[in-house]
Amino acid sequence: MVKLKRIICIITAAICAALPLSLAACRGDRKNKFDLSMPTFSKEDGWVQTMDDDFSRFSTIREVYDNTAWKPSPHGLRKTEYWCDKMITLDASEGAVVIKSIKTENHDCDVCNTKSGIFTGGIETADYDGDRRKETFAQAYGYFEAEVRVPRASGMWSAFWLQSYSVGKVGNKGRDGTEIDIYESSFVAKNPTKTGNALHWDAYDAPYYRMTDNVTDTGKNLYDGEYHKYSLLWAPDRYVFYVDGTPVWASDDGGVSTVAQYLKLTVEIRENKIGPYGQKLGGFENSSDGSTDFSIRKVSVWQNENFKSHIMSDGSYQDMKKTYDKAIAAACAIGAIIAAGIVWLIVLSVKRLRKKKVASSEISKVSND
Ligand SMILES: [Zn+2]
Repeated sequence: MVKLKRIICIITAAICAALPLSLAACRGDRKNKFDLSMPTFSKEDGWVQTMDDDFSRFSTIREVYDNTAWKPSPHGLRKTEYWCDKMITLDASEGAVVIKSIKTENHDCDVCNTKSGIFTGGIETADYDGDRRKETFAQAYGYFEAEVRVPRASGMWSAFWLQSYSVGKVGNKGRDGTEIDIYESSFVAKNPTKTGNALHWDAYDAPYYRMTDNVTDTGKNLYDGEYHKYSLLWAPDRYVFYVDGTPVWASDDGGVSTVAQYLKLTVEIRENKIGPYGQKLGGFENSSDGSTDFSIRKVSVWQNENFKSHIMSDGSYQDMKKTYDKAIAAACAIGAIIAAGIVWLIVLSVKRLRKKKVASSEISKVSND
């Protein structure tokens, strides 16, 4: 009997010991679903640099536009703020492109065509002729890194993101283009150690729009007035996001984009609104201490020869919106017919019940008489 008890004790102890280990292993498996390692950048592993923009090489913003793929983001009203070319400068002593942000009653710009408002800007690897866009640099897959000092003032955020002309196509999940937000700095007011990443695909309107995002506490102040490196490894099977070389998120949500996308480094200002990742932005005030400046020192992009066979063209994907719209309309029509049928049956049943009731009450009346 004592022996049996001992055996039961040993088995129970073994199960108790193994359970947390197996749970930990499961958690570990989830965490390690993706390879989070930084690229080696070695030729042997297929890595080739495709962009090496160090803005300290330039002395004017004109030189940047003339000698790199970077151009001003679309000039004019964005949401509540204006993206104005005049806000984009080159600070030679800083060795950086600096995007300024101001609130003023005396703005002087024919394109913005308003004196009063909030003015900021962005740069991107696309050129605009009116509404016509032409990519000056676009790439599918690879490694994308920007060395930036984010604005530290409230009411605003900066972002490094990749965009696709075909992000508006519905269907094919995010494989036909995904807005990839490598970082968005909307955490300064309350959570300065946090960083956010997001993926958006299938246009931006219901019912097709999909998105997924992530917030990571990096444990260090990213609004400390120093430069930090925000980067993305975009491989055929995953996106991995890094801050200063440390992975903060990995995902394959949307199925991973397969098409070439262009780069954007921009500022947005929404006074006292909720910004990305549900962050309260607070008010925006002009500043002379540089805290409203977005400084971009370097942008590097790499491609891997082994990724190239996975690249697809925008045109190889069909926009499924019309097909899906028709299917939804047909489903709604069928639903309406079924609902009408059910209502009709209920009405019929109620009428029959009433008739029966009247008939039975008349019979009981006759028998009572
Ligand atoms: Zn302007």
